[in-house]
Amino acid sequence: MIAPMGDAATVLQRCDQLARCSEEPGRLTRRFATPALSEARDLARSWMSDAGLNTRCDPIGNLVGRLEGEGDRTLVLGSHLDTVPDAGRFDGALGVLVAIACVERLREAGRRLPFALDVVGFADEEGVRYRTAFLGSAVMAGRFEKAWLARVDADGVTLADAVRAWGGAPETLAAGRRQPDDLLGYCEVHIEQGPVLDGLGQPLAVVTAIAGRTLAGVTFEGAAGHAGTTPMDVRRDALCAAAEWIGSVESEARSADGLVATVGEIAADPGSANVIPGRVTVALDLRHAEDPARETASAVLRERATAIGEARGVDVTWEELQTTAAVPCSPALTDQLAAAVAEAGHPAPRLPSGAGHDAVMMAAVAPVAMLFVRCRGGVSHHPDESVRAEDVAAALDATIGFIERLAAGTRPA
Ligand SMILES: [Zn+2]
Repeated sequence: MIAPMGDAATVLQRCDQLARCSEEPGRLTRRFATPALSEARDLARSWMSDAGLNTRCDPIGNLVGRLEGEGDRTLVLGSHLDTVPDAGRFDGALGVLVAIACVERLREAGRRLPFALDVVGFADEEGVRYRTAFLGSAVMAGRFEKAWLARVDADGVTLADAVRAWGGAPETLAAGRRQPDDLLGYCEVHIEQGPVLDGLGQPLAVVTAIAGRTLAGVTFEGAAGHAGTTPMDVRRDALCAAAEWIGSVESEARSADGLVATVGEIAADPGSANVIPGRVTVALDLRHAEDPARETASAVLRERATAIGEARGVDVTWEELQTTAAVPCSPALTDQLAAAVAEAGHPAPRLPSGAGHDAVMMAAVAPVAMLFVRCRGGVSHHPDESVRAEDVAAALDATIGFIERLAAGTRPA
């Protein structure tokens, strides 16, 4: 068996190698179905083959490496190979490479499992090119919507053509769906992308749920007017109403456990220093691991916007742009993962994930579990993304332990 730290060093070296596959010189950008992603996929495929996995690409271009076992069922491990623009090198890639390293370690040990292992490198999680996330896992989960094929990227290339261009088959995407009966589960190792573990001084956490999200557009409609001649007491300033409400968004989120709320976009009309703002639109992003808590907060904030508007003579309209339900991780798999983390000698704090992951889609066809790895300062979606070798070694040990615990509880078919 290779020394664990040796495995972690290999994983980190491979993260560096993958980071060189980029669309842009000097920074890492790897969007769906681009030559850069193709290059990264080839590289990952060669490591999978070296590890003894039989590799193939599914109709959308997800890379799948299979290790046969004694039984009929399959445990899926993996994450995504695409990135955001100017990305860090661990978001996504780490999960794929840890999974490959696990297979290498099992092989070194001559271990044959009572189930098959599929290691997956998803082709699109970030959704940068077609402005819709999870294209890769949506196919595997049978949740891909045909209408998406007509979407165009910034260069006018349809999604269908992009899939074809890198060797996929847009006509047969439905065949990429995995059968729930065949799947034992889906487990994803991912950097935390937040500062909690770094703050705790701990390497790993098990994920309890992936937070649900409400995205709402809120419009405040007052009256524009001359900034010099309109007395204060007759104004219907839309931006002042919005500002008061934004302050209450922050205090609501601070007072509710587990709630995060962000107003990250604001547009004031007409947007001139000498004109009272007549119309303001803002975007609210609201997340919580439990849907009822998010729904309650959404209702409270909506009422507050209306009340603030009424007090100021400003009309408020609320448009729910997108709602995504929370995805709970499987309690059974999560308990096994937590036990494996503890067995590997580490604390196993439980955290919700505020960010979306491929597990969101995979939950439609398999019970899911996720392991978070500490990243320095919680920095992610940025070239400064950084993980420690010893944390990667811990993640490897925990994942191997998790696989062995499932093996111990699985009778060969
Ligand atoms: Zn990711």
